[in-house]
Amino acid sequence: MLLIECPHCGPRAEIEFRCGGEAHIARPADPSALDDNAWAEFLFYRSSPKGVHAERWNHAHGCQRWFNALRDTMSDRILATYPAGAARPNITTIEAAR
Ligand SMILES: [Zn+2]
Repeated sequence: MLLIECPHCGPRAEIEFRCGGEAHIARPADPSALDDNAWAEFLFYRSSPKGVHAERWNHAHGCQRWFNALRDTMSDRILATYPAGAARPNITTIEAAR
């Protein structure tokens, strides 16, 4: 069983969580000023790196709070979790998390 460390509850089973997509997507300051391409870029286009990826996760069957996680997309291993609004940990390579 894969355990995910909720920053608020501690380690819990993976089945208690839902992934909410890429983290650290900033909403445009003035959405009405964007053209259709820029709006589509904000809404639909996300990075899909091979390696460390920052994602939003929700502890849906626990505290129901959102937090961020750094996940290695190659191994599906979660390298770090941190509260929403906190700065991203400085982990840019898989080796740095070991
Ligand atoms: Zn929780």
